Amino acid sequence: MESKAEYGAPPPNYNDATQPPGYQGTPGQPPYPTAPSGAGYPPGAAYPPGAGYPPGAGPGVPAAQPPVVVQTVYMQPSQQFGFQPVQTTCPGCNQMVLTRVSYTPGALTWLSCGGLFFIGCVFGCCLIPFCVDGLQDADHYCPNCGRHISSCRRL
Ligand SMILES: [Zn+2]
Repeated sequence: MESKAEYGAPPPNYNDATQPPGYQGTPGQPPYPTAPSGAGYPPGAAYPPGAGYPPGAGPGVPAAQPPVVVQTVYMQPSQQFGFQPVQTTCPGCNQMVLTRVSYTPGALTWLSCGGLFFIGCVFGCCLIPFCVDGLQDADHYCPNCGRHISSCRRL
């Protein structure tokens, strides 16, 4: 008989499950807070629950964008020769070569020499610009055929 009583124990009453106070909502008040009185808009203008995007105003089809046309133009106009070897097509042998640069005294070289002479460098120091490549003109030659391709002047 005891086992029967143990077996027939009443199931836990789920209706007595504790619920947080106020879960059912306070009677007499709307489930969502309304605008306080005097806030500038009527109480009926409060956002209703679940109101996300207005109907039809959601993220729709993005505006059509014009196609982007990428134009890649390969131009080989008058190539700019600097004071460093550049890769160019030799007009003599029609081959892509890296020019050989030869530095020769130019106007800036002589001006530097004169400037050094006037400030007192009269014992050979005024010849220093002739040894500085940065003060001389650059002549580009083809390493294959030795043809003079272009020149780059300092002044
Ligand atoms: Zn050449």
